[in-house]
Amino acid sequence: MGSLLVRNAQVLATMDDGDTEILDGGLFAVDGFIAAVGTTDELPHDADEVFDAKGHVVLPGLINTHHHFYQTLTRAIPGAQDVGLFDWLRTLYPIWARMTPDDVRIATRLALCELALSGCTTSSDHQYLFPNGSRLDDQIDGASGVGVRFHAARGSMSLGESAGGLPPDSVVEEEQAILADTQRVIEAFHDPAPGAMTRIVVAPCSPFSVTPEIMEASAELARIHGVHLHTHVAETYDEERFCIETFGRRPVELMEDLGWVGNDVWYAHGIFIDEAEIDRMAAAGTGVAHCPSSNMRLASGIAPVRSYVDAGVRLGLGVDGSASNDGSHMIAETRQAMLLARLDAAPSLRGGPLLTARETLRIATRGSAAVLGRPDLGALEVGRCADFIAISLDRLEYAGALHDPVAAVVFAAPVRVDHSYVHGRPIVKDGAIVGVDVPELIANHNESAIRLVGGAPPQLRVPNGPASG
Ligand SMILES: [Zn+2]
Repeated sequence: MGSLLVRNAQVLATMDDGDTEILDGGLFAVDGFIAAVGTTDELPHDADEVFDAKGHVVLPGLINTHHHFYQTLTRAIPGAQDVGLFDWLRTLYPIWARMTPDDVRIATRLALCELALSGCTTSSDHQYLFPNGSRLDDQIDGASGVGVRFHAARGSMSLGESAGGLPPDSVVEEEQAILADTQRVIEAFHDPAPGAMTRIVVAPCSPFSVTPEIMEASAELARIHGVHLHTHVAETYDEERFCIETFGRRPVELMEDLGWVGNDVWYAHGIFIDEAEIDRMAAAGTGVAHCPSSNMRLASGIAPVRSYVDAGVRLGLGVDGSASNDGSHMIAETRQAMLLARLDAAPSLRGGPLLTARETLRIATRGSAAVLGRPDLGALEVGRCADFIAISLDRLEYAGALHDPVAAVVFAAPVRVDHSYVHGRPIVKDGAIVGVDVPELIANHNESAIRLVGGAPPQLRVPNGPASG
């Protein structure tokens, strides 16, 4: 691979333990790993590839810890726009049941392009239904060529409507088939090495769509193979009621009973969690993917972010979606996280100190890396991977905000990155994805989306004239 020199950044925020920010900063990487970080003067003067970051703020790449890429095909569906989680799911399950392997590939690629342009260099995805012969392999295939590191969570649903679960029977799988396929994809794709581009995660969907037995069996399988565990926990009031009425346990208590705690486990959402549960999560090392936009969109609730931070819970950021966000924009999500935590800090709500821009960026970088079990990611320091983003400061959105360019990334209107590197390789150059025909991808994606929903192509409405299209 060779060496990469980044120099002349207006400011480079390392997110190291001392929160070091370097004016006129840069870094030097060899074979994708950072070998030096410092001012331009302190670094080597040449390399196989040189990136001049003059006039840019440079940050560690943002890391997305929760998503459902396939849902990019069902954004803004009219029947699912204005309802809470359970009705939203009931509307969408039959549409998702029509997905083909090609749809999964296209949606994965599209979501990763959208993420990359918004500053994401590593993403997890939680795929929990596999209709019409689709497999996790289709996601791995769709992700190839974009260059974002990918933690593919092999999800599952086994508890259909007829057995008291929420999803229709047509989208659930047999438990033995789930476990066998999960083992297959771990053996085929999981790379445990530092700098890995692909990892597999074991991820039954939620307490209301799988049985306790498969939760336990999944944890056992994951631990045999040393892979991480992920599921939705304590997302909504309805789910809390379901757990109490069905199992006589609160969501986190249920997870504790099933062995779903520890530093190899992270929950999506974690809203209906009390202070004692937060302390137990901190002690056990259990992580959380905070998804503020989705939580607002579905009127789910406000996660206790300040309590998580203060208790030392591993806390990362997730865009969730894409039918419940409906955007995959990591900088926008970072901003939402800061703003929602501030709303929660209102004296009439939870109160407490305001979450700062840097605390929020830390959640989206170091925090998310910790949640995914990636000590090789999340900061720009020697030994970690050269995953970083560069944003030009010469733009409308940042005019008047150059007093603090790092904070401006969070406070100002969310922008797309100008450059992004993963493992020392450029994946975004001058605001464009490297090596992907994006217009063609959008056209194919819209075609899949329209077919899935069963509608005719939309007609453009022209004021004072006939519909055209
Ligand atoms: Zn989710």
